[in-house]
Amino acid sequence: MEDPLDEELLSPVPGLIHRYPDRVVWLVSSVCAVYCRFCMRKRRVGCTEATGTGTRQAALAYIANHPEIRDVILSGGDPLLLEDDALEEILSGLRRIPHVEIIRIGTRTTVTLPERITTGLCRMLKKFHPIYVNTHFNHPKEITAASARACARLADAGIPLGNQTVLLKGINDDPQVMKRLMQLLLKIRVKPYYLHQMDLVRGTAHFRTSIDRGLQIMEGLRGHTSGLASPYYAIDLEGGKGKVPLLPEYVRRDDDSLLIRSYRGEVVRYRDVEKS
Ligand SMILES: *Cc1c(COP(=O)(O)O)cnc(C)c1O
Ligand code: SF4
Repeated sequence: MEDPLDEELLSPVPGLIHRYPDRVVWLVSSVCAVYCRFCMRKRRVGCTEATGTGTRQAALAYIANHPEIRDVILSGGDPLLLEDDALEEILSGLRRIPHVEIIRIGTRTTVTLPERITTGLCRMLKKFHPIYVNTHFNHPKEITAASARACARLADAGIPLGNQTVLLKGINDDPQVMKRLMQLLLKIRVKPYYLHQMDLVRGTAHFRTSIDRGLQIMEGLRGHTSGLASPYYAIDLEGGKGKVPLLPEYVRRDDDSLLIRSYRGEVVRYRDVEKS
């Protein structure tokens, strides 16, 4: 499908996706440093579209008029392909809205254009804390000296860094590769956040893996390496129903108790409190 998550239907004003009660995604840029073949938003990424001042004012007005929105996620495209001034205007617009508690920026420039993370950019971002940055590394080979330096600059500016990985057949659908990626991310102060099951976007089917493979990869992380290295393995439900975390089967019910499997495969009985 072009838009399996119904993002266009969930868009109250151009560029905003309002799917969850307390947060919105704001597509502030439609360009990227590199165009990924597996992109879930390829219907609009790389296309020219109206992201001028008028559209921005409309988005800001929507957020200002919806006091339930406490979390704004800047996405695109890549928000860091905007120039510092344009980005600063967006951030200061958001910071004038008292109910916006946190701002997140999703960017792949830490990988694809690490020189974009300048000290000037970090100095500017710091003024708008709390800011969170989510990066997008898919393979240990993407962690280079340059991308490590970019992440260090952001972390030194007090920005907590997370990472979203897309599970890609033939690229990272291997427990050893994934474990190494997660460990190396922690080394550059990036906390693994999501491992995304591929969305059903036209032109990306050859990258899809089975859910079982994804669960096997998750099994290979939990217990076998730092708990910090385990992201949520999430599937984004069709029709914009939201992200749901998937876990390997660790727990089975057995009357009044639970049979719980350890990472080594031992099954341990756990007595639950009695139902009243
Ligand atoms: C992923 C996503 C979010 C953020 O989800 P979190 O679980 O809070 O990180 C918000 N809105 C949309 C439309 C999303 O796709
Ligand atoms: S950087 Fe992100 S938004 Fe841009 S093409 Fe790649 S996956 Fe899509």
